[in-house]
Amino acid sequence: MKTYVIVGGVAGGASAAARLRRLDEKARIIVFERSEHVSLASCGLPYYVGGEIAKRSRLLVQTPQGFRSRFEVDVRTSSQVVAIDRANRAVDVCDMRTGRRYRQSYDKLLLSPGAAPIKPNLPGINGPRIFVLRNLPDADRIRSFVKKDGARTAVVVGGGFIGLEMAESLRQLSLDVTVVEMADQVMLALDREMAEFVHQHLRAKEVELILSDAVAGFEERADGGQVVCTAGGRRIDCDLVVLAIGVRPEVKLARDADLTIGPTGGITVNEYLQTSDEDIYAIGDAIEVTDTVTGRPALIPLAGPANRQGRDAADNMCGRKVTYRGTQGTAIVRVFDMAVANTGASEKRLKDAGIEYLKSYTHSGSHAGYYPGATPLAIKLLFAPETGRILGAQIVGVDGVDKRIDVLATAIAARMTVLDLTEIELAYAPPYGSAKDPVNMAGYVADNILRGEIKPFYPDQLPATPEEDLALLDVRTLGEVQRGCIEGAVHIHVDELRAHVAEVPCDRPLVVYCLTGVRSYYACRILQQMGYDVRNFSGGYVLYCAAQHGKMDIPGIDRFHRSPAASPAAGKPPVRQQMPAS
Ligand code: FAD
Repeated sequence: MKTYVIVGGVAGGASAAARLRRLDEKARIIVFERSEHVSLASCGLPYYVGGEIAKRSRLLVQTPQGFRSRFEVDVRTSSQVVAIDRANRAVDVCDMRTGRRYRQSYDKLLLSPGAAPIKPNLPGINGPRIFVLRNLPDADRIRSFVKKDGARTAVVVGGGFIGLEMAESLRQLSLDVTVVEMADQVMLALDREMAEFVHQHLRAKEVELILSDAVAGFEERADGGQVVCTAGGRRIDCDLVVLAIGVRPEVKLARDADLTIGPTGGITVNEYLQTSDEDIYAIGDAIEVTDTVTGRPALIPLAGPANRQGRDAADNMCGRKVTYRGTQGTAIVRVFDMAVANTGASEKRLKDAGIEYLKSYTHSGSHAGYYPGATPLAIKLLFAPETGRILGAQIVGVDGVDKRIDVLATAIAARMTVLDLTEIELAYAPPYGSAKDPVNMAGYVADNILRGEIKPFYPDQLPATPEEDLALLDVRTLGEVQRGCIEGAVHIHVDELRAHVAEVPCDRPLVVYCLTGVRSYYACRILQQMGYDVRNFSGGYVLYCAAQHGKMDIPGIDRFHRSPAASPAAGKPPVRQQMPAS
């Protein structure tokens, strides 16, 4: 009889334990978990803090008793593995309730210890009003602090997905919330111009957003309140602070046991999720994975990969040879009314890795424009210049973001090209999509760029191009132009272009724009066939405004809002607005 020992009983560890039992009915399976809970739904914690998940017990997906009765797994909570004796294939365990230490031998060991919230060594960081969120006791602490102390104001440090989920949850508890982020954008997996949609939505939801400023320390006020001090000299008064500045892989056990740690700080594993010791496997947030798009080592702490790795590692521990292909980094987060998602590489990551790419921006409706209630989807697609292979995608919208990002994630995993996106057949009926789905549309636009049928132009090329080298043509309606336009542009509405073509500047290359890039594409095709050297402003005036880094409101940003009464917590059906034309 084999003995399998697992360190960590939440996402990856619990998944591996259940799989091991399905593969080996006779084995002895022991899970050591330092906290009081196994199989905790960590991803639900922010919604429990905000009250959307009302019952604490719902977060406990499985209990030690449940594991015992269904899987015959010996789950030992409040039990910390403190050392690994590789030579004797044993671990030392501390029972945290009694302080008793004992030894447990193994045939195969699996490490799934996760990652811990980063707590930098800043003055005052251990104050009683400063919280992190990793487990249920953390969530309980925040909830009871807000309730008992009647907190009214909060600072969330960090604009990643946990930070933004917490900002929303605390707003739902009627707190005034400030988010402080050191970078010039939230959600670093997105590129800056796509993050601008999120910035403007957060501000519309009355979250104060401070970017490009780092927290330097914390002070306690004489009245018991808290002051957050920033490197930029700000002093922000609040009742509580949630630190959400990222996580660090828990590698102490592995390091102490002389297992190899990779350059990113995660445990090194091979394609079978084996560490540098063939009897020890490691999975989840603690390991270094290969980024499937860039091929580089990376830390990608997400629940999906941890769970899948748990299954793969269990297979391999039982002698199968299952290869873990790497992690693509597909993620989605709800930020108030908005869904924000990404898969594959961002433009930043491609640049860092020295990988060449092309890009396209499209703005489509979540479903047919003539059927009520469509909301916008802003899609950025990154693809390889020669082959058109899809490298990454980012989507910001209200409805239908999840299914589009999942289609694109599948396309990346299957190494599909933008041409494949034009061909892909997706389900359609007016309430759900369009006969040409936003994914098809993104494919058409990208394919036009790839084949050179249309030359794209991007906002970051504008300041770098002197006026004498470029003419701008705005083909929107007069009303739209009067609400805001790019300086120096000539205005001719797309429907009048053929009649007024003599007014189109022809002495310089021409950049044509409309609101989103659709009407300007029609104009480009007209002008191209008349011999003009034209470029289509990808993503249109919407993207131009988004790329001004907060200096301009994105036109139509209010279409990313549901009515306040229809927030998910209110439990009422959302009231949505009509999509205007492109
Ligand atoms: P964990 O699930 O963290 O489990 C590790 C466990 O190991 C811990 O319970 C720890 O107590 C235990 N442990 C550590 N060391 C020892 C030891 N020496 N002895 C015994 N036990 C030990 N991901 C998403 O994809 N989508 C989301 O929406 C999402 N939301 C999140 C929200 C929050 C608030 C948090 C904290 C995380 C969220 N994540 C989300 C990330 C996701 O939860 C993690 O990627 C996933 O849980 C990692 O699984 P893991 O098994 O590696 O580690």
